Parts: sequence; structure tokens; C-alpha cells
Amino acid sequence: MPSHLSINHNDMRNMNLALILNCLHQHAPLSRARLAELTGLNRATVTHLVRELIHKGLLVEMDGNPHPSAVGHPSINLQINPNAGRVIGVEVGVDYTSAVLTDLRPKILWRHDAQHPFSQDVGEVMERVLLIVDQAYRQARQSGFPILGIAVGVPGLVDLDSDTLLQSPEFGWRNVSLREHIGRHFDVPFYSGNLVHMAALGESYFGAARRVSSSVYIHLGYTVSGGIVINEDVFPGAMGLAGEVGHMSIDPHGERCACGSRGCWNLFVSQQGLFRRLQEGMAHGTQTLLSAASPLSMPAVLDAASRGDALTLEALQQTGVWLGIGIANLVNILNPQYVVLGGAMSMAFDFFAPAMYAELAERALLAPCDICKVTVAKYRQDAAVIGAVATVIWNILNHPQN
Ligand SMILES: [Zn+2]
Repeated sequence: MPSHLSINHNDMRNMNLALILNCLHQHAPLSRARLAELTGLNRATVTHLVRELIHKGLLVEMDGNPHPSAVGHPSINLQINPNAGRVIGVEVGVDYTSAVLTDLRPKILWRHDAQHPFSQDVGEVMERVLLIVDQAYRQARQSGFPILGIAVGVPGLVDLDSDTLLQSPEFGWRNVSLREHIGRHFDVPFYSGNLVHMAALGESYFGAARRVSSSVYIHLGYTVSGGIVINEDVFPGAMGLAGEVGHMSIDPHGERCACGSRGCWNLFVSQQGLFRRLQEGMAHGTQTLLSAASPLSMPAVLDAASRGDALTLEALQQTGVWLGIGIANLVNILNPQYVVLGGAMSMAFDFFAPAMYAELAERALLAPCDICKVTVAKYRQDAAVIGAVATVIWNILNHPQN
């Protein structure tokens, strides 16, 4: 066998450690005997590796005994240790920064959400983010538990190896080193990525699409983008750009999109698209409860819809039609088990869902449509910060030797 294809004993041991951790992440609580069955490893290997993981603090026995049983009793259940350490997840939006400190469940133990005026000044924005990460870091230090990592989600294309934001249309930035601005200030592992890809991982890892092998996450915010998840990993594509579902062409003669194309899905199903339809209705003199809401906001839209406002309900129903058309395309191409909707627009799910399902049933192929569930993100507006946390935990479970 050529040497570059050989797997040495250490690689095999690390792969088996990751196998055990991932199996427990998906199916815990599990006994050692059940772990052996599910992983295909022999019992002696499981006992040995579990002892090592307990010693590292990553696993705990669930019998209430803080010390592992000397013989590694096969029937005592095991789980990932929620207090193996603390994780910091950060979401950098165009006009806000959110940070959370969690354990490995992931339970949010501390959070900070700050709104800012929109700024394209790299130094100003990064300084704000650094201050908030520093607060989270100090909180984590006070807890006394080890800090397992910091992950920062940003809008745009990120080079994951160098932690460089290569391009952010939202900020109008190119080549911003997140490691230089943020990561290098902290003596713990640092990760960065596209915030929607992180949200997709978070929903797959802990949220609505947990324990399924394939899902699509769609962020329905001011603009629309997505992440494709295959076996609990986000499919990056050749350049990390996979999942830009917002720029599917839906109408060849449609309006010009910011990307330069015409009739992109984004223009129809984003918050921007919904607000434009509502403003057109108001400009035509349609009576609406939204006349009093200036500027338009999602809370005002949800309030008007729940009070039966005809213009709002019609606009949301139209959103549902366009959503159904785009989701049918995705279902036919990707055959996912779940399509998970997040972002501010997902709050209006109950209002647009009937039209969306009707369109989906009309257009998607029968078999993939039958197995696919469309649902709202478990973490809703926290999908990206929990996704950042999931990025750190994913790295720990898959590379426990580090
Ligand atoms: Zn576009």
C-alpha cells in the first residue's frame, strides 16, 4: 500500500475516539455495550477509549458517580459531558452583534446582543466585535471551566483555513482577516465562517434537522441564503459558496437583483420582497393596519396578520407561493429530509405555510416531496449563534485528540 494511503495506529485511535463521541452526540445516553454495537468496535476497544475520553473530561457516566467505574461497567449509560468546558459563539450582523456563552448541551449561560448603526468601517466594526467577545471570554474565565473555543459567524464568503472574510457584499468588504482582528487576542481555538452555513450546521447538530442525514437550511431575512447539510457537515462547494439559494432565477424577466441577475428568488421571498409588496399595496391606497407602522417591521407585520389585516395576509400568502416554488426546486435537486426555515421571516410561518405547501405539492416530484418536512428553525433568531457554538463542538467531537 502506498505510504500516503496507510493509516497508522494513532490515526485509527483518533478516528475511533471521534466515532464514539459522534455516536454519543447523536444517540446518548448509551451504555458501553450499546456503543460497541452501534460503532462496530469491539467491547475492549470501547472500554479503553471511553476511559480515555472520561479522563479527558469529554464523557461522563450517568450514575451520578463523578468517578468512572473502575471496570467500565458495560450497562452504565454515558453521555457527552455538558461541563467539559465553555464555548463562545458570535454572530456579526450588518447592524448588530450577538454573542453567547454555552456549555456543550448547548445551554446558553450568558448572552449579549447589541444593535449598532450600520458602518462599513472595518476597524470600527471589528473593535465592537472584539469588545463583545472579550466580555464573553471574561465570563467564561470566571466560570472556572476550560474555554474550548470561539467561533465567529459573518455575512459573506470566508476562507476557513486562514479565517479571512474574502468578500462581504453586505458590508462591501474584501479580505478582512478575522484571525488578525479577533482570533489572535485569545489563547483558545478560533473558528470563523459564513453565518448562514453555521446556522445550517447548528440546526443539523442540535436543532430541527437533528439526526437526519440531509437537510437544507434557508435563512429568510433581509436577504435570503442557505446551507446544504450532508451527514452533519455543511457542503461548501468548490469555493465555500454552495447554498446561495437566494439567487436561483425564478422569473427571467424579473427585476434586477443586487447580484446583477434578474428575477432572483431573493427578490420574492426575502423580508425586503415582502415589505416591497406591502408598500406597493399601501401606495395603491389599500386600507391596512400597517399604515400606522413606519418604518415597516416584522413585529408590526405579524401583529397586523394576527389581527386579520387583508393586505398583510395577501402579501404573506404570495410569499408562501414563491417559497413553495423555490423549495420545490430544492427538493427535486437535493432530496432533503428536512428544509429548515430560519431568519426573521420564518416567524410568519403559520401565515405563509398553507400557500407554500400547496405550491410544493403541485411542483415537487411525489417521492422526494413525501419524505421532506418543511419546518421552522428550532433556534429561530439564535440559529447563527448556536451554529457558531456547534462549529466549535463539531471540531471537538471530530478532533478530540487536539
Ligand atoms: Zn441575485
